[in-house]
Amino acid sequence: RPRSELDAVDSVCPYCGVGCALTYYVDRERGAISFAEGRDQPGSQSRLCVKGRYGWDYAASPQRLTVPLIRVEGSYPKGPLSADVRGEGTGKQATDNDRGRGGDGGNRSERKPGDKRGGNRKPGGLVDYDEVLPHFREATWEEALDLVARRLKEVHAEGGPGAIAGFGSAKCSNEEAYLFQKLIRTAFGTNNIDHCTRLCHASSVAALFEGVGSGAVSTTYGDVVNADVVIITGSNPTANHPVASSFFKQARRAGTKIVYVDPRASTVAEHADVHVQLKPGTDVAFYNAVMHEIIRNGHVDREFVAARTSNYDELAATVADYPPERAAQITGVDADTIREVARLWGEAGAAVVYWGMGISQHTTGTDNARCLIALCSITGQVGRPGTGLHPLRGQNNVQGASDAGLIPMFYPDYQGVDRASTQARFEEAWGTALNPDRGLTVTEIIGSVLQPGGVRGMYMLGENPFLSDPNINKVRKALSALDFLVVQDIFLTETAEFADVILPATSYLEKDGSYTNTDRRVQLGRKVMDPPGQARPDWEIEQDIARRLGLDWHYTSPSEVFDEMVALMPSYANLAYDNLGLTGKLYPNADPEHTDGTIVMFDEKFNTDDGLAHLVPAQWLPPKELPDAEYPLVLNTGRLLEHWHTGSMTRRSFALDAISPIAEVYMHPKDAADRGLAHGQRVRTRSRRGQIELVVRISHREQLGNVFIPFHFREAAANLLTIDEIDPYGKIPEFKFCAVQVEVL
Ligand code: SF4
Repeated sequence: RPRSELDAVDSVCPYCGVGCALTYYVDRERGAISFAEGRDQPGSQSRLCVKGRYGWDYAASPQRLTVPLIRVEGSYPKGPLSADVRGEGTGKQATDNDRGRGGDGGNRSERKPGDKRGGNRKPGGLVDYDEVLPHFREATWEEALDLVARRLKEVHAEGGPGAIAGFGSAKCSNEEAYLFQKLIRTAFGTNNIDHCTRLCHASSVAALFEGVGSGAVSTTYGDVVNADVVIITGSNPTANHPVASSFFKQARRAGTKIVYVDPRASTVAEHADVHVQLKPGTDVAFYNAVMHEIIRNGHVDREFVAARTSNYDELAATVADYPPERAAQITGVDADTIREVARLWGEAGAAVVYWGMGISQHTTGTDNARCLIALCSITGQVGRPGTGLHPLRGQNNVQGASDAGLIPMFYPDYQGVDRASTQARFEEAWGTALNPDRGLTVTEIIGSVLQPGGVRGMYMLGENPFLSDPNINKVRKALSALDFLVVQDIFLTETAEFADVILPATSYLEKDGSYTNTDRRVQLGRKVMDPPGQARPDWEIEQDIARRLGLDWHYTSPSEVFDEMVALMPSYANLAYDNLGLTGKLYPNADPEHTDGTIVMFDEKFNTDDGLAHLVPAQWLPPKELPDAEYPLVLNTGRLLEHWHTGSMTRRSFALDAISPIAEVYMHPKDAADRGLAHGQRVRTRSRRGQIELVVRISHREQLGNVFIPFHFREAAANLLTIDEIDPYGKIPEFKFCAVQVEVL
């Protein structure tokens, strides 16, 4: 059908934190999207990666949840029924399955999961609906919502506020995130509310708050064009932030020098002036040595340090213990390379650092980020164009969900729950008494369920901890032990297999709402098509549950919720839902009529109480589980370009699944040869916590002694292997380091 006969709907990509602007072209007669195209916006400039361009057909999957489901009485034990995700090493893929579920999917895609048009595509990798659905029965919305409200009230009455917890989602809109945290806080009097930021950049946020008084980025990724030197560290933006990566590569062609600091030689290394391939878990030693050299070379910005920072002397004393030769022994990077990086950074007129989860997902994640903040601060590389701090956010709305208060220690806009004045303000706005105690994080809630007197009832909105959280055998025990679990999602996820009630929600394509990208850009996602069956927007479901819990909520639209957020969030001053336009706006925004918002923050002062950057020194500490004779390899987990998190969306996308259909372990050629393993061979990978079976991929991008496994694949769930040790400040797990062995099956 020609473009002129298609409906064009402007929206944003639902995957990574880049939040590319795009237009969906919809064939209304077929009731389906025909294609997607990038559109102009300062942060994406009409570019899209493969996920944005092709990864939308999952919404038309016949496996969408379309009616509320209630667990059949006596259907226990709860939890995954397939051996593949129990880590029992069967070596089988999950059963291929094409069953939809009720409802009136209408003229949606006729293709079914398992369709073999993907060439040698392996079947499976999805929850087996035939196996799981007999444990549930269909229900009306009234019955399901009444049951949810009644059981959550009962658990609350028996166990008190600490017995209830909510996991929200960075896939939901800002308005849905805001209402979800408000619901848990006001209906149950608990701050046990969190979301996947805990698995992503929680340690970065902890360090940024402590250091500069704001958890958001200080500049955009597009600002790289103004930098002389950029450090990209602990990140593989080509796979994880592809369009941002194109800005980095473009800047290099214009003369910006790229220093890439990462244990893996991802494709970014091919575009770097220097690739520092340090050993995993040694970032603090490396950056302390760089600062040691910067001080020794006289490259400290003394004026900036005196006027705008505190605690410099303690920092200088700490890094004095990290001469390059000592750091070389810890990091495996030769001392001259450390000196070269220090010289490049120290001599730069403008320098900026972008970091990813190779920095944050460690038990030393907060210390790692503290070093980056100190590096920028002592050299005056903050607050000007081409300078600053930018943790590249993972999910399309993880920034927005955090801003909206979906975290246990903060109300919206990072206003501390334990500050009396803040509490009073929110009590007045929300009309109820609030709990002044910080709540539990995602990682703590799972542990709490297994403790006497801990969490007993959970509302899970769009999260899939059974695949996304570390050490999922422990997660399985926790989810199985809950007295009541309601899961609200668009598919029957692995976590939904533990649920007592499952509520069918709309995908982002089927609702309006705002989303905030890694740059602090608040943009509108617009409804493209009607939802399947009885699926409803998350915010409407939240409101119906709130009313049943006695809350007097009468929101009629996302824009009404957004208005309430603006009134309570100083950072949102001057933003208006109807004024976000086609390109969105950055916050803070002094003048919404005429400007795009603030690109560079902290030009005059930091957001800390005293306006200074707080330098916090860190000592290098080794990772928690080191390799040994039985488990001699280091496991690093992460994402692939074609897939997204636990795969519930991208593995149901025909093009993406066809490109990347199977789980692989990436190995250095010598590690494979030492074990007699060939490319494409099925192997067992095991740790102290579990084992999985998957295929070897010989990769020159891995360091000797290190392997990489993506966490998208249910049939080879990487988090059966990972360790659940957490960073003491950010409470983020150590997804980037644990000891494993790979062996012949
Ligand atoms: Fe979507 Fe990120 Fe790709 Fe842009 S770069 S199209 S936001 S996945």
